[in-house]
Amino acid sequence: MLSEADIIRLFFTHPARNAVLGVGDDAALVAVAPDMELAVSTDMLVEGRHFFADAEPEKLGCKALAVNLSDMAAMGANPRWATLALALPRADKNWLGAFARGFMQLAREHSVDLIGGDTSRGPLNICVQIMGEAPPGQALRRDGAKAGDDIWVSGTLGDAALALAHLQMKIALEPEEFDRCSRALHTPVARVELGKRLRGIAHAAIDISDGIVADLGHILERSRVAAVVEFAKVPRSQTLERYLPVARQALLSGGDDYELCFTASPARHERILALSREMDLPLTRIGGIEEGSGLTVSDERGRKLDFEAKGFDHFR
Ligand code: ADP
Ligand code: MG
Repeated sequence: MLSEADIIRLFFTHPARNAVLGVGDDAALVAVAPDMELAVSTDMLVEGRHFFADAEPEKLGCKALAVNLSDMAAMGANPRWATLALALPRADKNWLGAFARGFMQLAREHSVDLIGGDTSRGPLNICVQIMGEAPPGQALRRDGAKAGDDIWVSGTLGDAALALAHLQMKIALEPEEFDRCSRALHTPVARVELGKRLRGIAHAAIDISDGIVADLGHILERSRVAAVVEFAKVPRSQTLERYLPVARQALLSGGDDYELCFTASPARHERILALSREMDLPLTRIGGIEEGSGLTVSDERGRKLDFEAKGFDHFR
């Protein structure tokens, strides 16, 4: 039987390259560069809420970190350190090996050190805290959008929610469509590089975890502005397009996209398109910020679309 100490030693103790002291003491020690601000965020994955009990552990490890990296991306911060608090129903060597592999592989790709955590017995629950750095005053916040800004979105939206809808038997995707959409669901790619490159360009940013309507809504609230989004411009895959109008909910209010939504002055239009080409990542202008409050999604003729405006809320 593996003890708690065995689990930590075998699966979660790795050399910390960015830290003064990593796993193994009462606390880790990091040296934050004196000329940087520390960005700190926590995201939790709960069995039955965020994933199914039989989820592949390697992908789960990867996703647990990816959703946290995505918060750093949304801040324009450079991710540096993470801690992992893990509750496990049992000490399963194979499960732990795969989980740690998925987590650590992504951590290494982003030069993020796992510097500590906590391990307990309990219903499967994965809580990651991530810390990163941003130059003072340059982090991308939710409260900086200004009337007249363009609204942009990276990548395409809704595929992860389509995969979930398929698993819940609400729609029936073709096998190859399901393969592609499940990759979006299980191994989302955090837009860390984009976030960093949007410093000094974007006025406001957020990562889309609960659907564009809900998450853009957070920018509007914090910035005290309104927005009009053109439905036809919201970037989507061919698969999603094929399942409209049923897939409209997935596109606008699905979860787990982990793309970035940001606003920027129209004067930055060309710069942002150039960035899109340099990064080989679609960046699409979907609408504009206006004075006032609230979000309107309009069809091609400018008519207001009715939609269920709410993203996922655990307590509703
Ligand atoms: P304490 O009794 O002080 O809480 P623990 O025995 O829980 O210490 O943890 C020992 C060390 O292992 C600490 O440095 C802690 O940060 C680290 N640690 C515990 N669990 C994990 C984990 N799941 N991932 C990474 N580090 C962990
Ligand atoms: Mg502990």
